[in-house]
Amino acid sequence: MPVYVVGHKSPDTDSVCAAIAYAYLKKQLGMDAVPARQGDLNPETAFVLDKFGFEAPEVVTDGAGKQVILVDHSDKSQSLDNIDQAEIVEVVDHHKIGDITTPNPIFFLAAPVGCTCTVIKVLYDYYGVEIPKNIAGIMLCAILSDTVIFKSATKTDKDVEVAKALAEIAGVEDMEALGMDMFKAKSDVAGKPPRDLIFRDFKDFDMSGKKVGIGQIEVVDLSLLDDVKDALYEEMKKVKEEGGRHSIFLMLTDIMKEGTELLCVTDEPAVVEKAFGKKLEGKSVWLDGVMSRKKQVVPPLQKAFAEI
Ligand code: MG
Ligand code: MG
Ligand code: MG
Repeated sequence: MPVYVVGHKSPDTDSVCAAIAYAYLKKQLGMDAVPARQGDLNPETAFVLDKFGFEAPEVVTDGAGKQVILVDHSDKSQSLDNIDQAEIVEVVDHHKIGDITTPNPIFFLAAPVGCTCTVIKVLYDYYGVEIPKNIAGIMLCAILSDTVIFKSATKTDKDVEVAKALAEIAGVEDMEALGMDMFKAKSDVAGKPPRDLIFRDFKDFDMSGKKVGIGQIEVVDLSLLDDVKDALYEEMKKVKEEGGRHSIFLMLTDIMKEGTELLCVTDEPAVVEKAFGKKLEGKSVWLDGVMSRKKQVVPPLQKAFAEI
């Protein structure tokens, strides 16, 4: 029986590339590991896989009866459907510890670094397995994506060190240029249905018993979203109602200005001011310097929801 290595729902570049890279490592170590993804590739990930010559991993959405290794998440709400009926064999991650549990001891490695692929590089070194050139390429891209080309608050010195080593292996001379090409691909928002844009990079959280959805669209210039912003807001209202959510937030992140316009649809507008110290101005609030969901948006919201 294969062991599926799979990242979170609405897969991003790290979730897909970490699955490929870790499945390859586990295969070298003798496990029948197969990379998988939970949904469509975003345009950035499609660009990355194409550039380094990879096919998209197979789609797996149901964990029932399967053996799985989780990468880039450990929250049930972001994991496979019926994850309780799967056997979780390992977890490799770089987020807060989620709510999955296991009946047996497992290998669980999470580190507070910028990217799952940074952790995976450390594991390649630990096991003394050589990283193929094309795998080094996609691991590097995952780090550039997750750390927003080293500009995000989630970036650590370890990420930079590992990225340099991977660039060397992959033969990438200009990491910044590669990163900009990726974010240009990711900025392809024109003409896309608002719903697709909302769910391109979307995570649900349990905050003090309330279901809170937080999406993110990262672009090289926020004006790219001017035409679609109102439609996004209307669609967010529907998504909120359908999913029985208390709130839904959409981060419109400008990676050049290094800030985020946070679109908010919530039953409790006061939670926004409590979390970010700024009042909602109409539909949104501008958060200067905020680029990371997990480090700059989730923790203050979680705290605000606990207090309100
Ligand atoms: Mg991710
Ligand atoms: Mg990640
Ligand atoms: Mg991200």
